[in-house]
Parts: sequence; C-alpha cells; structure tokens
Amino acid sequence: MHILTHIHITMITDETIVALSTPPGSGAIGVIRLSGKDAISITNSVFSGKDLLAQPSHTLHFGLIKDGDIVIDEVVVSLFVGPRSYTKENVVEISCHGSNYIIQQIISLLIKKGASAAKPGEFTLRAFLNGAMDLSQAEAVADLISSDSQAAHSVAMNQLRGGFSTELNVLREQLIHFASMIELELDFSEEDVEFANRDQLQDLINKITMVLNKLIRSFELGNVIKEGINTVIAGRPNAGKSTLLNALLNEDRAIVSEIAGTTRDTIEEVLNINGINFRMIDTAGIREATDTIEAIGVEKTMQKISHAAVLVYLFDVVNMTAREIHEDINSLYRPGFTFIAVANKMDLTYNDRIKELDLPLDIAFVSISAKENKGIEELKELLYDTVVGDKLSESHTMVTNIRHVEALRKTQESLHSVSEGLINPVTSDFLATDIKQALYYLGEITGKVTTDDLLENIFSKFCIGK
Ligand code: GDP
Repeated sequence: MHILTHIHITMITDETIVALSTPPGSGAIGVIRLSGKDAISITNSVFSGKDLLAQPSHTLHFGLIKDGDIVIDEVVVSLFVGPRSYTKENVVEISCHGSNYIIQQIISLLIKKGASAAKPGEFTLRAFLNGAMDLSQAEAVADLISSDSQAAHSVAMNQLRGGFSTELNVLREQLIHFASMIELELDFSEEDVEFANRDQLQDLINKITMVLNKLIRSFELGNVIKEGINTVIAGRPNAGKSTLLNALLNEDRAIVSEIAGTTRDTIEEVLNINGINFRMIDTAGIREATDTIEAIGVEKTMQKISHAAVLVYLFDVVNMTAREIHEDINSLYRPGFTFIAVANKMDLTYNDRIKELDLPLDIAFVSISAKENKGIEELKELLYDTVVGDKLSESHTMVTNIRHVEALRKTQESLHSVSEGLINPVTSDFLATDIKQALYYLGEITGKVTTDDLLENIFSKFCIGK
C-alpha cells in the first residue's frame, strides 16, 4: 500500500557540509561543524598533529589548522564517527579561537578541500532523513534553541525526547492494520466479506479521537508557553500603571534574547512568573500615555488589548467611585481572555472600602499597593493561576507547534468521516479513502509522510549551522 511508504523526495547528497555552529561574531571559541562521509578526511587534510583517520570515535585532538605552510589556528577537533553522531554521518567539530577572521579562513579552507556550505537547518534535516529523529523532534530542536523560559524549555525538551510521537505512532500502526484489512476487502469485493471488524475499528477511532482532543486542547496553553503570554495593564490616568509595572518587573524581569525572526514590533517588557513569560505589551505606550481609557477612548484601548490574552485592569481605589469602576469593568470585559481586576493604593484606605465597591463576584480580583510593594506577590500568583493553573501538571505532553495542531485537526476530520461511514455504512473503498487521509495527516506530524515543500518550509526557518 502506498501510504505505508516514506515519501522522501528530498535525497541526502554525498556532499560533506560545513558551517559555523556558534553565533557569528567574536567569542572565546567558535565551533565549526562538518557532516558527511568525507568530514574526517577533509579535516585531516588541513590538520597537523596526528592522523585523524586513525582515531576512534568520540575523541578529542589538539593540533593546528594549516593552509599549506601558514598556520591559521590552534584548535581542538572532536570526532564522531557515523552512525554515532547527531546526523548519523561522520561529524567533526572544530573548536577554534572565536575570531571572525579565523572562522572565515578555516571554513573557506574546508570548502576548498571539498566541503560545501551548509544550508539553514541542514544538519538537523540530515539527522531527520537519516532516521536519528522524527520530524516533530527536529522541530523541537529549533524550539529548544529559542526557548527563553523554563516552561518553554521543558515543553521543547519533552518533545525532543519523543513527546507525543510515540503515542501517535502506536495508534497510527493500529490504524494501518485496519486500512490494510479494508484494502483486502476491496480485492474480494465480489464476495461481500468483511475482514476489518467494524466495532473494533470504531473503538480505535474513539481512542484516537480522545488522544487527538487532548493534544489539540493542550495547544492553547502550549502555544502561550512557547510564545509568552501577551498581557496588558489598563486603567485610568494615575491609577498607578507605571508604578505597578515597575513593581512587577523589579525582581522578575526576564532576560529575553532577540533571536532572528522573532523580533516583535512593540517594545515590551517580559515578566517571568514560575517559568512562564508574560509579555507586558505596549508598555512604552502605557508609560507615555497619561490617559489610557479616558482620552483615547475605550475603542482604541480595546484595539490595543485585542492582542492580549490577559488584561489587568488597575483602578485607584481612593479616587474613583464604585460607579466608574463598574463602568470600566463593563466596557473592558470580554469573554475569551483572562480578566483580572486590581485595586491599587490600598495604603491610602481601609479594607472595607473593597466591600463598598460591590465588585462582580465572578471576576478574579486582588488588592495591592503598587507604591509600597504590597500584594504584588499575590497578583503574580493570581496571574499564574488564572492562566496556567494546574493545566501544566495535568498534561506534560503539549503541542506547541501550529503545524502539528493543524495536522491533528485534519486527522480528526478524516476520522470523523470514517466514523460516519461506519454509522451509515458506506462501501469499503470510501472507508479506505478516509482512513488513508487520516493516516496521511497523522504521518505528517512525525514525518512518516513528508514532501519537499514541507521539509523546505520547516528547515528553512532554522539557523545555519544547526
Ligand atoms: P499611571 O498614570 O497609571 O501610570 O500612574 P502612575 O504609576 O504614574 O501613578 C500615579 C501616581 O500615583 C504617582 O504619583 C504614584 O506615586 C502614585 N501611586 C501609584 N501607586 C500607588 C499606591 O499604591 N499608593 C499610593 N499612595 N500612591 C500610588
């Protein structure tokens, strides 16, 4: 059956590839990596110290890189003889002094000796094509490199170590079994036989659908963990928004590196709570604008916060009337995002003031004094609990990749058609077609089924050298 075959149009060439694997620019050391059948012999041709071809795998060698008589650098070479390497090919890593000049000289020399410059993600692409990892794991490599919070790191790590691939593959195998049974029925179509037990097929579909649902649901949180949670602090002038932002960021400002391609258009501060990044969007605006809700109007404010997943509504508990607060809450509250009301300047008033305000009971609420740094921890806890809660521990396996969630949804649709075909019985060939569709989409996730376009799309987003 053709669906069982791996459609690997992209072929691995015989070429040995080379690239700088550490970031460009000067550093203490730079690591140049080669992969391919000639990786060791090409390196050997410019290395003096010992014969690298005679050395065992997983060993380090100190020596010189020379272009003829000219010494370019003193280096340490690491050898990984295939298939015991990242790409399953022969891999060499040359650790040289991290000067741009040295790195360029060594790379050009290696290219002169027969290596070719690696394309973005080509090392990981080879690892995938050679079966060292599946496609979702290869994608996790990119996520791992760009992870900038503890939670994003742990989700990427989980996916790299297999994540949901194993579970999906087992279910896929079972579905393949049914597909082949039904194909068999087609061969005996004259005789009206049923090799595939319809009840068992329905059971399997139910089981797969449950797993798919769980994974699709996990994307909502998985995605925010990977990208960070867009959060806006809104409130009237002088409510204390800037003061609160400073208090929040005081200790927990996250260090977020700018990774090429992930630069965001608004200047933002990132607050890290329990390993989750909350992106305080448009905080520059909040600082400058003396009037958020009043002057630019509710509509504009709403536009700004429409990109937010979390809205923190801050109000001045002393200088605002209960009516004004209720009005603000009514105009800002939208179903679909997390809304937290925060009473500020509690240091200037008495506790019962909150009761007098008669706030809606169903909204998350906390009272603070931004200026005196009181209630800030409680606010952070509330932020974390309303957004993440116990969802993290509930399912550690999480879908963070939009490509995966789309494939999961399509699988689900195809399975739904299979189910319908079982309830209102259709001929075996219709069933077979729908099952094949489901298998196709399921296979796309782990790369059992791939196309050149798909691979190109995924690996072109990698950096060169990975
Ligand atoms: P924004 O316009 O919402 O950004 O408000 P600011 O953060 O600039 O604060 C307005 C004024 O309220 C400033 O003078 C702050 O010092 C003061 N303020 C902010 N938070 C508190 C608080 O918790 N207690 C008191 N007493 N004053 C506060």
